[in-house]
Amino acid sequence: MSGITKSIDRNGRLVVPIDMLKVIGIDRGDQVNVELGTDSIGRTALFISKYHTTCQLCGQALQAGRTVQVRETRICEGCADIISKGVVD
Ligand SMILES: [Zn+2]
Repeated sequence: MSGITKSIDRNGRLVVPIDMLKVIGIDRGDQVNVELGTDSIGRTALFISKYHTTCQLCGQALQAGRTVQVRETRICEGCADIISKGVVD
């Protein structure tokens, strides 16, 4: 894992270099999720991921109240229904 040292500005903000964000698929104008979690060695950490407004399986627009989150992946109810039916012959 590579990292950089940045300072938090007087307003509590942190600027993340765009080159680092692009590595994880985030670009200017994207919405992001910022969440607290635990890293692989047990430290409390911030995790930044792209906020997807479309289902990661079928590409349909996600609707509030009709979206299912499976770990870091957001999918529509239709895809969740298909998955819940199990294995297909
Ligand atoms: Zn879907």
